[in-house]
Amino acid sequence: MNIALIAHDQKKNDLVQFVTAYQAIFAKHTLFATGTTGLRVNEATGLNVTRFNSGPLGGDQEIGSMIAKNQMDAIFFFRDPLTAQPHEPDVTALVRLCDVYAIPLATNMGTAELLIRGLELGLLEWRNVVKKNGDINER
Ligand code: PGA
Repeated sequence: MNIALIAHDQKKNDLVQFVTAYQAIFAKHTLFATGTTGLRVNEATGLNVTRFNSGPLGGDQEIGSMIAKNQMDAIFFFRDPLTAQPHEPDVTALVRLCDVYAIPLATNMGTAELLIRGLELGLLEWRNVVKKNGDINER
């Protein structure tokens, strides 16, 4: 599965700890991330992460582009609800695309626990069916 990792600055430590805790599961998947988040995860875990631009410089939109092309299977996006973000419109757009394409999105640690455990149990196998059936826009 293709998995995206994003964390706002105040949540980066939480995401790094989370990925470290579930490193054995994440290692079985293909990881993508916004720039700084990806760097932090790679430094902490050694996991291979394809890094996009930093979020405020378009990284969220790059991940959104993969969602629109049916290439992203799950998103771990640890948002900071207490700090205004300069790229709030991009954040909203990313969440919206997850809803458009029914892509599982965890925006906090509580949901992230469920999503990663569900992933390990094979509960996201339906994504392989969706991908096999081709571009969601053509259905
Ligand atoms: P970053 O971007 O990983 O480059 O910090 C995340 C964000 O703020 O959206």
